[in-house]
Parts: sequence; C-alpha cells; structure tokens
Amino acid sequence: MRFVDEFRDPQMAEALLQRIRPLVDKKVQQLGRPLQLMEVCGGHTHAIFRYGLEQLLPDMVELVHGPGCPVCVLPMGRVDDCVAIAEQPDVIFTTFGDAMRVPGSKKSLLQAKAQGADIRMVYSPLDALQLAKKHPEKEVVFFGLGFETTMPSTALTILQAEKEGIDNFSLFCNHITIIPTIKAVLDSPDLHLDGFLGPGHVSMIIGTRPYEFVAQQYQRPMVIAGFEPIDVLQSVWMIMQQLDEGRCEVENQYGRIVPPEGNRQALQAVSQVFELREFFEWRGLGSIDHSGVRMREEYRQWDAEQKFSLPNLKIADPKSCQCGEVLKGVIKPWECKVFGRACTPETPMGALMVSSEGACSAYFTYGKVNQADHIPSEQLA
Ligand code: SF4
Repeated sequence: MRFVDEFRDPQMAEALLQRIRPLVDKKVQQLGRPLQLMEVCGGHTHAIFRYGLEQLLPDMVELVHGPGCPVCVLPMGRVDDCVAIAEQPDVIFTTFGDAMRVPGSKKSLLQAKAQGADIRMVYSPLDALQLAKKHPEKEVVFFGLGFETTMPSTALTILQAEKEGIDNFSLFCNHITIIPTIKAVLDSPDLHLDGFLGPGHVSMIIGTRPYEFVAQQYQRPMVIAGFEPIDVLQSVWMIMQQLDEGRCEVENQYGRIVPPEGNRQALQAVSQVFELREFFEWRGLGSIDHSGVRMREEYRQWDAEQKFSLPNLKIADPKSCQCGEVLKGVIKPWECKVFGRACTPETPMGALMVSSEGACSAYFTYGKVNQADHIPSEQLA
C-alpha cells in the first residue's frame, strides 16, 4: 500500500470486520464476557472516534482509551510551574500549541499570555533555540513535553545549544516514558484487559522489544498499530487471531514505520542528554516510578528547573473532575459528571478535553453527543 486512500478503503474495512466477527463471537462464548482492548496512544483514540471504528466493531469488543496523550496526563502543579516561569521578567516561554489551554490551578498558559506574559507557540524546540539566538537579552525557555516520540528532537536541540554555546536557552523538562505507564495500567486492579493496540509513534523510536514483558510476564497480546482505519482494524484482527490461537506475542502491524530495533541515533541522543527520574507525577494516575526523565548533570546549565525557583506543588484536580478514571479506562468520557456541561472544549476543566488526542475531546467532537444540551444520546435513551 502506498497512498492514504488505501488505508481508508471501506471494502477492505468490511473484509477485516468479516474476519474479526467470528473470532470475537468464539472468544466471547468461551469467556462468557465481553472483550476489552486498550489503545494506549491518544492518536489511536482520535482515529477510533474520527472514523467511528468503535461502532463498526462487534458490540462485545470494548475499546478502552489509555493514558498515551502526554498533554492529558500533565498534572496541574506542572502547569502552575510553567506559568511561574513564563511570568518572570525577561523570559520568553515557548510551547507546542496544545499545551496552551491546559488548566492550571489558577490559570492556563493562554490566560497568562492574555495577562501579558511573553508566551509563544512554536512548532519545534529548534524554533525556540532560534528565538534565543535572536533575543540574547532574554532567557528563552522551551516546555519539553511528550513521550519518547518528541524526546529526541528536544535532546538534539540541547546538543545544538551546547555546540553553538547558546546559554540563554533552557528546557523545562516534562518528558515521560511509555513502558512504566503500560506497566502501571497492567498492575491496576480496576482493569482486566484482553489485549493492547501498541503506540505507533513511540515505537518508531523505541522499537518493539521493550514491550516483550507485556506478552511474557502479563500474558497479554500486543500489536503495534498504525493510525489509519485499516491499520486499527487489521491490528484488532491480529489481536483476535492471537487470542483465538492462545498466543501472547508482540506483533508489529506498523512495520512500514516501526523497525523492531527502533531508531538508534534518536535513542543515543536521548540517553546522552536525559536520565530517568525516580518518580514523576501524572494527572489522575498519581506518582509512577521511573516514568519521567530529567537532564543529566552535564547539561544542567540548560535546565530550567536549575535556573528558576518553582512552586513545585502537588495540586489535586477539582473534585468534580474524573480525568484519572477516564485515563485508566475505568469510566467512559461521557460518564464523567461534568462532561459536556461544565467541561467542554471551549471551557475545559480537565486536560483530556484540551488536546485533540484526549478521549473527552475526541468523544465530544466525534461521539454520539447531543449538541443541543451536550449530553450523549446514550444518556437520553
Ligand atoms: S469531562 Fe472534563 S473533567 Fe471530566 S474526565 Fe473529561 S476532561 Fe476530565
């Protein structure tokens, strides 16, 4: 396949569904309960809602939306730290656009910008480095966010700053790692998952081998999946084949992008600049051991956490927010008490309503939501 239309072909989708249906029927009969498959990555959540894939799959397959949207798991305290840095005099604070509207305890970055802070949206950390070169009288801070997918470009930017001797540039590092997150999900007593759609973008960097523990220790099938409808359906079919044959393996549906060994150069840059933190706080999930990275001692002169004094407070989500339960797949977005009422994409209370990869935003945009009163049609029935 070479062109995107081929990955959206309705006939091919129907052919895959015809293979999936009998395998689901057989497994559900054996187990006497519905099947739960988790898509780890927010990109998959977005694709599933956008193309209505959940409706195409048999009713007895429930897709559980996992914690793989980095904006969604950013705790309020870290947003407050961003605002505290951005409101310092002579600071230009730079960030990707989807982090601008994530609520902090008092304000978001967008609100801080409206109040006068110099906060700018960039498309890459190298754009932020360019700003630092252009404004030597300012300290330019880049808000580093994301899983292993975005970590290499941040690491390479720090190496570039070192090479060019640019010292008015720093990184507020909030990068997180996928493997401890999946482990935390597997250890959660609330969830009983039958298989995983593995994250395609992260795997492009780390490869397929780090997931072996999912199959070997937890006996769950995992298929690394692409992001087009045919990718997702083919991956579900591959998981169903494994379940049918009693196999638990890590398979790679996204082989056109994901090499088994990952991207060695990117991994080299990451390990040169970053080291694991002992723990990192996640919104709604609490602290997860070794799930975040910080800058190594040799690169601390570009570390915003060393240059600025930060509030560094742990802030609980508002009581009415149920982001943690949605992130763990314990409830569906529309089951949150404030979904579509107090919390909408225009007035987000939780981060899952901000990013297009957030389950609440995706469900609100593409789900069966009654736009008149923002209540899902299931609740009206
Ligand atoms: S509706 Fe809003 S508050 Fe509720 S889980 Fe979703 S993002 Fe969080």
